[in-house]
Amino acid sequence: MTEYDVMIVGGGPAGATAALYTARAALKTIVFDKSVTAGALGLTSKIANYPGIPEIISGEELVTRIWSQAGQYGAEFKKTKVVSVDFSGDIKTVFTAEGESFRARAVILATGAMGRSSVLPGEEQFLGRGVSYCATCDGAFFKGKEVLVYGSGGYAFEEALFLTRFAKKVHFVSAKFPSEEKVPGNFQVYPEARLTKVLGEGKVTGAEIATPRGVSVIPVEGVFIYSAGNKPVVDYLFGNVGTNEKMCILVDKEYRTNMPGVFACGDVLCNDVQQAVVAAGQGCIAALSADKYLRGRKSYVKDYK
Ligand SMILES: Cc1cc2nc3c(=O)[nH]c(=O)nc-3n(C[C@H](O)[C@H](O)[C@H](O)COP(=O)(O)OP(=O)(O)OC[C@H]3O[C@@H](n4cnc5c(N)ncnc54)[C@H](O)[C@@H]3O)c2cc1C
Repeated sequence: MTEYDVMIVGGGPAGATAALYTARAALKTIVFDKSVTAGALGLTSKIANYPGIPEIISGEELVTRIWSQAGQYGAEFKKTKVVSVDFSGDIKTVFTAEGESFRARAVILATGAMGRSSVLPGEEQFLGRGVSYCATCDGAFFKGKEVLVYGSGGYAFEEALFLTRFAKKVHFVSAKFPSEEKVPGNFQVYPEARLTKVLGEGKVTGAEIATPRGVSVIPVEGVFIYSAGNKPVVDYLFGNVGTNEKMCILVDKEYRTNMPGVFACGDVLCNDVQQAVVAAGQGCIAALSADKYLRGRKSYVKDYK
């Protein structure tokens, strides 16, 4: 197993900027990101206020440019969802949806604040009994079955397409659907629709959806939910770092969490000002703090000579 100096969870402006700085500090760096378009910046269609970029570009393009800049200095980017962590020892471990594990001496958490704020009726009751949040983790359990995917971002669409490999039919329920996208024969789109209830008895048997034409029930055995909200994304941490009552990760002025070697930056801290440039600035400081920690330095080393 390759061991890294720094693992970064989340590749939005905070995590990707942290990667730029750790890679330039000659620290072996890997970034895990489930999908560029799952982040607040990545899903934004027009950015006009990022310094140094006078032209209007998409958030996805801006994030991709930071990835490419960090990649020039050796940072690796891996498209995957981190599903759990172990920060108990000096060497930290993260576990991915594909069942892989990665190890490093320092970790930077930068998973943003697109977490959901409410649950749907039936969602908690049938979690693990047909309700899932991860196609890569659970898709194979639905071989030959009908499933429903709910969400409007590009990430929901990617996950729905992935499920067509296993499921007999994928029902994609979405407020917005990229109409130019081509879909396979076992993929049915319900545009301008929303999931209102998960139905079942012991396990999922169907889902209730609301469309402009009224309410209807789709018989399915699996329901995959990817709707976004504005809560810090900390579900994969299972209490491994300190948060406040709103689940915002707590850090000191050097962006250190309560776990030695674990840092956090960006919207996952519930910043008063949630802007890409702020997240990027915090990513820079978290990276320099990680460098200080790993090399036992007394103070930050400047990233210029
Ligand atoms: C609609 C909208 C418009 C906005 N417009 C602007 C604007 O014009 N200008 C501006 O400066 N700011 C804007 N913002 C705010 C800005 O996008 C955020 O402040 C900024 O993106 C926060 O950066 P971040 O890196 O902390 O989080 P994010 O950009 O949300 O990135 C988090 C990353 O973590 C990844 N991730 C999450 N969980 C996992 C996991 N378990 N495993 C692996 N990866 C994971 C996601 O895929 C994502 O890429 C806007 C926000 C929104 C919602």
